[in-house]
Amino acid sequence: VTRVRFAPSPTGGLHPGNARVAIFNYLFARHYSGVNILRFEDTDEERSSKVYEKSILEDLKWLSIDFDEGPFYQSKNIKRYKEVIEELTSKGFLFKCYCTKEELKHEREEQAKKGLPPKYSGKCKHEETCKVGCEYVLRFDVEKFIKETGIKELSYLDEIKGQIKTDLSKIGDFVIVKESGIPTYNFAVVVDDIDLKITHVFRGEDHISNTFRQIMIFKALAKDYPKYGHLPMLLAKDRTKLSKRSGGVPIHEFRKQGFLSSAVFVHLAFIGGCIGCIEEKANLDKMIENFNYKKTAVAPTVYDIEKLTYLNTKKLCEISAIDLLKILKSDFDFKTIVYKDENLLKIIEVLKEGARTLVNIIDDFSVFEESGVNKDFLKDFKDEEKNLFIEFLNNYKNINSFSDLKETLSSKTNLKGKKFFMPLRIFITGRTCGPSLKDVFSLISKDVLNKRIEKIRQVLNV
Ligand code: GLU
Repeated sequence: VTRVRFAPSPTGGLHPGNARVAIFNYLFARHYSGVNILRFEDTDEERSSKVYEKSILEDLKWLSIDFDEGPFYQSKNIKRYKEVIEELTSKGFLFKCYCTKEELKHEREEQAKKGLPPKYSGKCKHEETCKVGCEYVLRFDVEKFIKETGIKELSYLDEIKGQIKTDLSKIGDFVIVKESGIPTYNFAVVVDDIDLKITHVFRGEDHISNTFRQIMIFKALAKDYPKYGHLPMLLAKDRTKLSKRSGGVPIHEFRKQGFLSSAVFVHLAFIGGCIGCIEEKANLDKMIENFNYKKTAVAPTVYDIEKLTYLNTKKLCEISAIDLLKILKSDFDFKTIVYKDENLLKIIEVLKEGARTLVNIIDDFSVFEESGVNKDFLKDFKDEEKNLFIEFLNNYKNINSFSDLKETLSSKTNLKGKKFFMPLRIFITGRTCGPSLKDVFSLISKDVLNKRIEKIRQVLNV
């Protein structure tokens, strides 16, 4: 069975890059009828937080990414890690390193002066530098690995990037257990991937260099390693790292900004040549069916929030009013006491056309619900507009269709074009822009409209 995992570190929210990895794993698991597993990599005691964990869970749920097993927590698995550390120690792959942070920093500075890349010297492997009671970390002995396995150049077939190799002599002895006794990411991830019988690891390409360390640990434990695939990074338009401004915000921010979860899902699945799906209009079933991970783009993906907005507009147009109403209720706590059933759906139907986001819809809905009017719009009214208002006041209650209203009023005034429609818009909607007058006039509650008109009457003092 295919078994994949999404393994976020709860040191931040679910950003577009991680979400994309989650979507990829999800589609992969579903396409191959496999198992999708969630694991929190929370061994970084200082930076991990329950708050992030909760927000990642909520965002995954919002995106409708579900899991068959987990969440597992690395922080709850320390006992098991200790067993495996014993095993590696008894096989002679680990050694104690007493170097202080300052010593290591000095070492790196010396290397930099000589133009060498930073690499731990292996000092503590050769001499016992501590007398008694010193703090230490456990490091993996890369030299010993090379000697034991005869592998100098390590190479693996990346499911997305193709063959990748590295010269192991470039990799310094890396830390397996920190001073606190807590294992590092590179070690814990291997133990968990073994225990959870993971068949494929898909993650961001920033983990490629870790992959070599992880494969060494697998081999040292005489275990087969999973297949690895690394997804290209998401970059801002200017090819720098995604920042807050360029869209590098947690997924719940997209929700707050009024994007549909289906639009965010499809958008993340498609940017950068997509992850194997055929067309952007595909529904989830089609995406799963047609998922072909081999088609995933290799080059970094440029993230473009304009495209998301465009897609959202399209999806808002396509979605049924009933479904949209459900989303407005769940994502925006939308409530109305004025409208019910058919009427409400008709209004939603009108508002979703051309809306870019749910926020637009909520905002436009207030035209139907709140009887307010901005007094500033009325302060420049001259006699002409006031007359138009008086005519409006005398007629609107007896007229049902907007075109009849228009005809009646225009026959009684000389105002034309914008000069005619703008005041009319203010009477009916309380605003100078917004949904179509025809729609508002035919769907607005008479009660709300009457109240608005009464307010205008008082301001204009007619
Ligand atoms: N915890 C890692 C991250 O959030 C994921 C590593 C992995 O998938 O192996 O980037």
